[in-house]
Amino acid sequence: MNKAEAAALSIIKSRKTDAELRAAELLDALREDPVFSQIEAERDILRFGIAKLKSKNTDFGHLKEKYEEAEKNFLSYLSSKNLKPEELLPQYACKKCGDTGFVRGRLCECVRQLAYKTLKNNCRALITSIDDFTKIDYTFVPEASRAAYKGAADILDRFLHRNGQSRISVIGLSGKQGTGKTFLLSVLANAMMKSCATVLFYNSVQLNEIFLRYHLAPVEEKEDIFEPLTEADFLVIDDLGAENLIKNVTETYLYELLVFRADKLTGFTSNMNAIQLLERYGHRIASRLCSKENSFIIHLDGKDLRFKNE
Ligand SMILES: [Zn+2]
Repeated sequence: MNKAEAAALSIIKSRKTDAELRAAELLDALREDPVFSQIEAERDILRFGIAKLKSKNTDFGHLKEKYEEAEKNFLSYLSSKNLKPEELLPQYACKKCGDTGFVRGRLCECVRQLAYKTLKNNCRALITSIDDFTKIDYTFVPEASRAAYKGAADILDRFLHRNGQSRISVIGLSGKQGTGKTFLLSVLANAMMKSCATVLFYNSVQLNEIFLRYHLAPVEEKEDIFEPLTEADFLVIDDLGAENLIKNVTETYLYELLVFRADKLTGFTSNMNAIQLLERYGHRIASRLCSKENSFIIHLDGKDLRFKNE
């Protein structure tokens, strides 16, 4: 179970407690009426009597009719209060697991769904809610570039299904403005969140602001600012190269971030090619972004951006 699922599980467990508390409160409120208490007690005594006789294999005699009568009184009391009998039971949000979070020892689907919903809410920057590459409507892509675009989507889809069993730690999408790079990485981000990976999706300008805030923050606050960036299972830097280079900030922390994320997945989109990235950020950063061993760069015009000799 990952962090997102653990957080979802604790919410679901608190739902269980709430549901049980609400049911208990309703019953307590009903029992304040002596009429209800009387009807309930009569029914329960008869039910208990029948169970006792049943265990001894003795004939119920007229107890059964009496019990049915008592049950009828019970139900008609409830209906006079506009209540259904099932409303006296805890109303669990998930019928499959009764808000325990587990079904036959395995994590219930509701935990994953809630984790996914929370992850998505925390990642509002995404430009699409599509979470499956097979659901992309390619008719919106100009016909001339449709095949290349679909090819890129297929590569990302295959990557997704490798389930982390890959040495790739950087996925880059390069190409001109408006070629749908951000959209493709958004679909990948959504698809990863569906399997409860934690995702952060920042424009390079926003990321640069975080770097600056980190730079200026008092020592005791620094970790809280930087840690989410290093901890996220998937971090996307959208439109890399669009930010202003801040001296002692942008390059310093971008490099630090890539080093810390060497065993996690980082994605980026950029209008720049490898040479331009190299010129802008220098060799240390560019070789982490575009390394032959650990990066997978898709150029939407079909060119391969990776450095050949690292
Ligand atoms: Zn459930």
